[in-house]
Amino acid sequence: MDWDSFARWGNRIVDMARDYRTSLRDKPVRAQTAPGAVYNALPATPPDAPEPMEQILEDFQRDVMPGLTHWQHPRFFAYFPANAAPPSVLAEMLVSALAPQCMLWQTSPAATEMETRMMDWLRQAIGLPDGWHGTIQDSASSATLAAVLTMRERTLNWTGNSAGLPGQAPLRVYSSAEVHSSIDRAIRIAGLGQDNLVRIAIKGAWRGMDPDALDAAITADKAAGLQPAGVILCVGATSVGATDPVADCIAVARKHDLYVHVDAAWAGAAMICPEFRHFWTGVDGADSVVFNPHKWLGANFDCAAHFLRDPEPLVKTLAIQPAFLKTHGVSGIVDYSEWSVPLGRRFRALKLWFLIRAYGLDGLREVIRNHVTWAEELHNAMEADRDFEIITRPMWSLFSFRYAPDGAEDRDALNLRLIEAVNADGRVYLTQTNFEGQFVIRFQAGSFETTREDVMMTLDVVREVAGRL
Ligand SMILES: *Cc1c(COP(=O)(O)O)cnc(C)c1O
Repeated sequence: MDWDSFARWGNRIVDMARDYRTSLRDKPVRAQTAPGAVYNALPATPPDAPEPMEQILEDFQRDVMPGLTHWQHPRFFAYFPANAAPPSVLAEMLVSALAPQCMLWQTSPAATEMETRMMDWLRQAIGLPDGWHGTIQDSASSATLAAVLTMRERTLNWTGNSAGLPGQAPLRVYSSAEVHSSIDRAIRIAGLGQDNLVRIAIKGAWRGMDPDALDAAITADKAAGLQPAGVILCVGATSVGATDPVADCIAVARKHDLYVHVDAAWAGAAMICPEFRHFWTGVDGADSVVFNPHKWLGANFDCAAHFLRDPEPLVKTLAIQPAFLKTHGVSGIVDYSEWSVPLGRRFRALKLWFLIRAYGLDGLREVIRNHVTWAEELHNAMEADRDFEIITRPMWSLFSFRYAPDGAEDRDALNLRLIEAVNADGRVYLTQTNFEGQFVIRFQAGSFETTREDVMMTLDVVREVAGRL
């Protein structure tokens, strides 16, 4: 393809993107395709001869589009959001065309220096102290893995990387039962063994970890000759938004000299609004914090903001520094590939620069505040409806409920049927979770295109579909 054709097709694709984003309300949110439909529509063998772009785009519209679940749909209320706001999309288009490899400072100084600056903007935006540093990871899972590896090496006095773990007393990491599966993964991959992820009992309205139980578990492990290594706290867990009492848990961890990592993958974005920061009071005592601008803040996937009170232990854990990669002699140079598991790095900071400037923090705060307000309103309307039972109250824009009309017998089965029918209807998309052994339905508002009407329509749709069951 020559570059004049590139520009022509590029313009077509930008128009397609606009048409797609502005017509989402007319489409069912969840893909309605049968398994195998897309696979079978694609030719079994690759073409030997070049094919015209016109044909490729036509096939895309016909065979691929129907198989997409519309994450940018204004009535996407499932899981957590994965926004891609227009300025961020534009930055990503630019990045994919410039295509720099940003593993070292010298392989693209602008990418490294913008990353340093953007992470400092975000640090200020969410109210972390001056002096903290940050880097952009591909996902919260990677940041958490890096944190667990740091816990391991710090506990083993940086001998684990060379000697491995044989002969070591088990290393123990503590979290509540509400944390994301990425924590289990990190423990497995770091070689600690999942049995050494200790689940601490939950206490209180936010369903957070009980600090006294944390203290008791660490003390018992020490007495048993095990090696406590770190604590992973959660602010806004995936299921129903469970949030640990950050300050109290950190005080316990400090008493035992343990590394503390805070997973705020979803809710961290809300901390750009000062009124939500009471949910993580004391976070400045943690060692690392991760939140995903690629969820609620509007940056395209992937963009996980990983903050460190002191990057030294992380870099000491991950850097290998083969001589050919070394950037010598210049002070202030950072090679962010030493802060993460993968070597290669995309220019991810550019989308933050575009996004934060195009909206301003006030614009982004307004988006988040609206979602929280509207979710609260929907919650209130559901609570007033006798056929519904609120299971967990809103944590930011997330709450859970059950359909529980008088006389309904097997409520798990009824709600399973309801959610299937709602998602087949397609006007809204909801997902379920397990809460204390019950099947419950989650609602979260987080799409940049969502309006109050979109949110409030959920109750009408759910009521109507339930009436047909
Ligand atoms: C989404 C989420 C994760 C995983 O994020 P990735 O960036 O997909 O790895 C981890 N923890 C919580 C609380 C989340 O909501």
